[in-house]
Amino acid sequence: MTSIDDLLAFLAASPTAAHAVAESARRLTEAGFKQLDERDAWKLKAGDAFFVVRGGSSLVAGVVGKKAPAKNGFRLVGAHTDVPGLRLKPRDRYAHEGYLQLGVEVYGGPILATWLDRDLTLAGRLIVREKGGGLAETLVRLATPICRIPSLAIHLNRQVNDDGLKLDKQKHLPPICGLGDQERLEVGVLRQALAEAAGVEADDLVEYRLDLVDVQPPALGGLENEFVFARGIDNLVSCFAALEALTALPRPRETTAVIALFDSEEVGSDTARGASSTFLDVVLERLCQAGKNPREELTRALAQSLLASADGAHAVHPNYADQHDPRHKPRLNSGPVIKVNAGERYATTVATQAYLQECAELAGLPVQHFVQRSDLPCGTTIGPLSATRLGVATVDVGAPMLSMHSIRETTGAADARLLAELLAAHLGGEVGLVR
Ligand code: ZN
Repeated sequence: MTSIDDLLAFLAASPTAAHAVAESARRLTEAGFKQLDERDAWKLKAGDAFFVVRGGSSLVAGVVGKKAPAKNGFRLVGAHTDVPGLRLKPRDRYAHEGYLQLGVEVYGGPILATWLDRDLTLAGRLIVREKGGGLAETLVRLATPICRIPSLAIHLNRQVNDDGLKLDKQKHLPPICGLGDQERLEVGVLRQALAEAAGVEADDLVEYRLDLVDVQPPALGGLENEFVFARGIDNLVSCFAALEALTALPRPRETTAVIALFDSEEVGSDTARGASSTFLDVVLERLCQAGKNPREELTRALAQSLLASADGAHAVHPNYADQHDPRHKPRLNSGPVIKVNAGERYATTVATQAYLQECAELAGLPVQHFVQRSDLPCGTTIGPLSATRLGVATVDVGAPMLSMHSIRETTGAADARLLAELLAAHLGGEVGLVR
C-alpha cells in the first residue's frame, strides 16, 4: 500500500510538528475522515472515521468499530510529531561584528555538530490579525536558505579532529542571516519575508514561532536506492506508517482503531498536547458514550486494549557495531524492531511482545529485537507514558534507523512500508490479548 515517493512527500511536507499535523489532516480528509473539534459535542457511530487536532501540533484519528469499546477494546498506535532542533528566541535578530544573526535555543537533544554548514531556513507558525478582527494561525516555510551556522576554519581550531567538536549552546549556535549593523536590523526584512511566504500583510503579522530547518529535501540513496536520507525520520516515519495503516483499514470494521500523533516527546511530553496530557484519554472516553456510565465503559475498554507505541529504533552502525549488544543488532530493511528494557524505559511486556510477533506472523512480516547494551543507559519514548496514563497493555516498536537526532537521519527504503504493514495487522484486531 505504501509507496516510497509518498513517504518522501510526507517528510518534505513536515518541516515542523505543526506542518506534520496539517499534512496528516490533509491526508486523512482525502481518505474520507471528518475533522472534529474538542469544543463541540460529538455524535459518532460505527463506521465513522474522524480526527481531532489539539494545540495545532498533536492529532488523534480513528475509525469507530461496530463492537462497543467496552466489548472489544481499542487497537491504538502512538507516535510523535516533533523533531529535535533549534528554535528562534522571541527577540530573534541582532547585529554582531558586522553580521546579522539569529538568537536560537535548543529544542530536545539534537546532535549539534550536524547543524553546522547546512543550508538552513525557517518554518513554523504565524499568528495574524484577521480582516474582520480576531487572530488566526497560519503555517509558513521560507523557500531559500536564509541562514547558516558556519564552522570555524581548521586553521583556527587545529585540535578539532583529535579532541572532537565542543559547542557552547549560547555562543556557538546562532546562525548568520545577513550583513549589517543595528540600523539594518530595523528594516524588517524577516517580517516581510514571512508575510510574503504566508500570503498575508506584514502589518497583520502579530507573532511567530519558528524553527530552523534544513532546506535539503528527503532523498533515496545507496547503490540500489536501499536508503532514505531525510530530516525527522525519528519519528515522522512512524507517523506516516500509522496514517497509512489507519487509512487502509476496511470500513466498517469490528474493533475501534485509533492513532495518536503527539507533539512534545523530545522535551518530555509534559504539555497540554503531549503524550502525558489528557488528549488521548478524553478522546477515548468520548468513544465510550453508548452506555450509561462512559467512565466505566472506558475502564472496561482500556483493560482489553492494545497500544503499539511506534518510534525510531537503533539499527547497527557498521563503524560502531560494538555499541550494540552482540545479539541485538537490528538491520535496515529487515523488519520492524520490538524494543525491550528491564528498566521499563520501553513499555513492552512478554505478553505484548508475543502479541505483536503474532501480528507479524499473521501478516508474513519479519521482526527484529532491540535491547540496549547493559553498560549504556537506555533512551525512552511515549510508550511508557501512555501505558502509565491509560493503564493499557503496550508494545514499543519502530523502524530501524541510523544517526538518530542528527539533522539528517537514515532509514531503509523498505522500513516505513514494513512498519505500516505491521501496524495495519495490529489495528486490524484479528490477534487477541493474552488472557
Ligand atoms: Zn523518537
